[in-house]
Amino acid sequence: MPCPALGQDNLCSIQEHKPVRCRAMPFMAFKDESSQSDLLVPKLGWKCDTGPNAPVVYRDRSIVERRDFDDERAALAEQTPGLQRYVDLLLKYDPVTATRLTKAAQSAQPGRVVVGFVSYLRHNRNLDIVSFARAQQPVLTEWAEKTNGSPQLASFNTFYRDAATDLDRYLSVK
Ligand code: SF4
Repeated sequence: MPCPALGQDNLCSIQEHKPVRCRAMPFMAFKDESSQSDLLVPKLGWKCDTGPNAPVVYRDRSIVERRDFDDERAALAEQTPGLQRYVDLLLKYDPVTATRLTKAAQSAQPGRVVVGFVSYLRHNRNLDIVSFARAQQPVLTEWAEKTNGSPQLASFNTFYRDAATDLDRYLSVK
């Protein structure tokens, strides 16, 4: 599904204010700078210029224009202590997640373990969770409706529904 900020002209309509995740594309700040080359292989549907005159963005395992990458890296570093506390709790009290992580780490192709974000919110001490729930619950509900009935998007649909229901609990408390 296209991003809601994608304009009719197929360009980003919030170019000046787009999230740091979009600005840093195709690099990924959670990977070391020296391990980014696999991200430069265009994926199906991407219209990347890979010709001889294309701008060089990565050279000798270093990012040439690195401001956005550094910004995202700094944002991730800032979030790390909170995420670490959350992961410690998950590993301590949620044996299913611990088993999934062990399995992913031991597989030949390193896997990933996806966890919903709502249970993390309680551990973010800077967040007004009720305001967050008020703003995000309708968005998740809308996306649950948009993905309803699509077999390819079934796992997304479940995620949106579960997250919307979880946020609903914060709204019904107040
Ligand atoms: S750059 Fe980001 S915000 Fe803009 S249209 Fe693409 S995905 Fe959406």
